[in-house]
Amino acid sequence: ESAEKSDRKLDYYQPEQDRYNARRLTLMSELKQAINNNQLSLYFQPKIDLGSNSVVGLEALIRWHHHRFGFVRPDEFIPIAEQTGIIKPLTRWVIKEALGVQQELLSEGHDIDISINISAKNLREEDFVSFVSETLASNPNNNHKITIELTETSMMEDPLKALQVLEGLSQPGVRLSIDDFGTGYSSLAYIKKLPANEIKIDKSLVFDLTSNIDDQVIIKTTIDMCHRLGFTVVAEGVESQHIVDILKSLNCDLIQGYYISPPLPLNKLKLWLSEMDDYAALA
Ligand code: C2E
Ligand code: MG
Ligand code: MG
Ligand code: MG
Repeated sequence: ESAEKSDRKLDYYQPEQDRYNARRLTLMSELKQAINNNQLSLYFQPKIDLGSNSVVGLEALIRWHHHRFGFVRPDEFIPIAEQTGIIKPLTRWVIKEALGVQQELLSEGHDIDISINISAKNLREEDFVSFVSETLASNPNNNHKITIELTETSMMEDPLKALQVLEGLSQPGVRLSIDDFGTGYSSLAYIKKLPANEIKIDKSLVFDLTSNIDDQVIIKTTIDMCHRLGFTVVAEGVESQHIVDILKSLNCDLIQGYYISPPLPLNKLKLWLSEMDDYAALA
């Protein structure tokens, strides 16, 4: 009888779960202030053209420097932002911040596309398209080049809505990218209709490229199909020269990954970009 009691006790008292909930509640209650208190920042990860080895873009990836928890990853707080509605001001902050950084880089001689990740929840905001258009129009750099990344899975939450908003976003200076491709269940018929410019093959498929011949066939087929539909293909999660070589042989267009560079804070990114320039000048 006492064993049964203690079993039951375990059902009710789960310290691990408590800790997790406490952390979650803390993050939930502090995320909104984090935007105003400058605890959020953007890191940037380069996108490289496999043909020319040049930098063709930067992906903005959000970071939260929490006063107690240290770095909190977006995979943990973006879902919280989505559940609490904070995703709306958060995405708008990211867009403005990214455009500001783009302007700053331009003034230092780096004319470069910036990719911004948005959430499926943003597609439900009535004024999302007009927010993006107005923000771009009021941007001092009227030659802005941005790419909006949306995951395949989040598009499938409401495929018709996603199509409609993406059509609205599709305007001069704005490219569209389908992120984490290959992990969702979208159909070819749907993908064909999207006004997207770019497909990003999910890193889980890229990781397996060296060990798994079937995955090479899947990626080769995906790349060929995307090319026929007119999409640029990016492979994310590239961690070795071996993977670079395989992707080159499969005609992939662009790569991103720790092998090239991890996401960097702005000051480190600037150093990285100037080293790339020096390197190009030598070559
Ligand atoms: P994502 O857009 O698919 O970004 C790629 C993720 O893979 C990033 O994680 C990046 O740091 C990581 N990564 C890049 N190269 C490598 C590699 O070679 N190996 C491995 N193992 N990982 C690599 P991160 O920065 O933690 O972001 C996770 C996800 O959070 C992003 O996935 C994106 O969906 C979301 N996210 C990030 N920033 C934002 C944002 O500003 N707004 C929204 N809505 N979502 C964001
Ligand atoms: Mg992305
Ligand atoms: Mg991705
Ligand atoms: Mg992802």
